[in-house]
Amino acid sequence: MSSIYRKSFFDMPKNIIYLDGNSLGPLLKGITEESERVINKEWGEKLIKGWNESHWMDQPVRVGNKLARILKAEDGSIILGETLSLKLYQALGAALDLNNERKVILTDSGNFPSDLYIAKGLIDTLNRNLELRIVKPEEVESSINEDVAVVMLTQVDYRTGRIHDLELITKKSHASGAVMLWDLAHSAGALPVNLEKSNCDFAVGCTYKYLNGGPGAPGFIYVRPDLIKKCSPTIKGWLGHKAPFAFEKEFRKAETIDVMRVGTPSVIQMSILEKALDIWDNIEMSDLREKTIELSEIFICEMEKKCPQIKLASPRNSELRGSQVSFFFDDGYAVIQALIDEGVIGDFRAPNIMRFGITPLYINEDDILNAVTCLERILRQDLWKKDKFTKKKAVT
Ligand SMILES: *Cc1c(COP(=O)(O)O)cnc(C)c1O
Repeated sequence: MSSIYRKSFFDMPKNIIYLDGNSLGPLLKGITEESERVINKEWGEKLIKGWNESHWMDQPVRVGNKLARILKAEDGSIILGETLSLKLYQALGAALDLNNERKVILTDSGNFPSDLYIAKGLIDTLNRNLELRIVKPEEVESSINEDVAVVMLTQVDYRTGRIHDLELITKKSHASGAVMLWDLAHSAGALPVNLEKSNCDFAVGCTYKYLNGGPGAPGFIYVRPDLIKKCSPTIKGWLGHKAPFAFEKEFRKAETIDVMRVGTPSVIQMSILEKALDIWDNIEMSDLREKTIELSEIFICEMEKKCPQIKLASPRNSELRGSQVSFFFDDGYAVIQALIDEGVIGDFRAPNIMRFGITPLYINEDDILNAVTCLERILRQDLWKKDKFTKKKAVT
């Protein structure tokens, strides 16, 4: 196995152990120069001509193809744009439309709130007696039945890191006639994913977490190639039109993945992502996964030894755990604030989860050992009880 560790590719503050790449990936070297180039040389000098001369209009598909190599998807099956929440709305709308005799969207209680809100909002808008059925994660498989129109799941639970078996659940969904929609927010850039082999119908995700696209980086949507022509877009924006520059009065849908476009793409942000994806060119996802598991095991074992009062919230079996390790602790918010104060950055998810992203591109064994030593000292000396750590900030 070649080394996965590439800290020298990143531009990160010194003396920080960054265990929050699951929320916001760090800045890669070369990004500052690239965004300056796009701003000055493309926007600044070319002005409106940039759409053609700098190929801004093709960028969402071009970057989609770059992402397709990481997710092992077919060329022309992924497009970037807007945010994950909006891409989920589009995917769910199209999925429901493909299975419009059935009434149930099946999901689990570990799903991210935005995904649940989006589904409920769409149900209200469509107003045709659809039901959002929320079961426990371990009950998903047994709940797939002939009522279910769409199985909508996030592969890796944002709180605990528990993984769903993407290929197995897709197979079960298809066997019962349901459309499969995966949210890969915590999978893309973290786990080996093979969208083509999985045969799933739709997938969505974001690019600012493990893909290091920067705050506000665009969301993505995957549509299995044979479904693209059958899909009707829930949001009919002008760029999803077959001929946007014909400016026709009636909407005619594009017959390519462009059908999932809405409006003008965020060129500068997407240029940053396009450049950030270069790092994946020479990375085998299976090597990355192996290293993630190795580091996570060290983390958990050290925590069991040094901080036994903190209980593991993630699955103990590494095969069932994504790229994060979480622990239950009622005062977790204050503990995380105290850790951040010492340069160890993790995060907290209400009501009682401390979360640590294990990202082997820029985290190594020393970082893990030092993080646990720091946490042990914070607990032993009750450092987290200081007032300044217990007051909640707006973003946790
Ligand atoms: C991070 C995350 C989101 C966030 O959606 P945005 O629209 O990008 O803000 C949604 N769903 C899941 C499962 C996530 O992990």
